[in-house]
Amino acid sequence: MRTAVANETIVDQIFRNFRRHGERSYGERVSVIAHSLQAAKAAEQDNAWPTLVTAALLHDYGHLIHDLPEDYADQGIDSMHEEQAAAVLADFFVQAVIEPVRLHVAAKRYLCAVDSTYLEALSPASAQSLALQGGPFNAEEVNAFESLAYFTDAVRLRRYDDLAKDPDAQPPDLEHYRPYLEAALRS
Ligand code: FE
Repeated sequence: MRTAVANETIVDQIFRNFRRHGERSYGERVSVIAHSLQAAKAAEQDNAWPTLVTAALLHDYGHLIHDLPEDYADQGIDSMHEEQAAAVLADFFVQAVIEPVRLHVAAKRYLCAVDSTYLEALSPASAQSLALQGGPFNAEEVNAFESLAYFTDAVRLRRYDDLAKDPDAQPPDLEHYRPYLEAALRS
């Protein structure tokens, strides 16, 4: 992420990346920006804290900042998008944003292990990436995940993520979420 415009804030930069790259396809029936806005709306409707609404909007930000080909999943590549997003955003946002973002793929592996209906309900793209991401957690990994400080928020974020793949949804635009992001910045 480069600073190309003087006095541009981090929120401006993020929104610029969404506008520039958000129409990218990532294997789902919705674009990255449509998916991200729907996830944020699901968090807002669940009365989540601003930090978790922000995490929902930014959880797939890693999909906007990689240079991989569109069919990277078919090529057997794990983009590690959750780690990329966490790394890029860590200087700017509080831990309550960064950790759920970092853990949202782990939360999928966790839910696949503890909820038998969850695995069956995954979208085709999500099921494909699950294999690349290491598959469902084993019992030891389940215990370790439940002991993490942001375990609950990571699972909540995962639920918003799964609700956010409707091609006909009409979520609010990016600017609607600016106050949430600004409230979640590090002081
Ligand atoms: Fe997602």
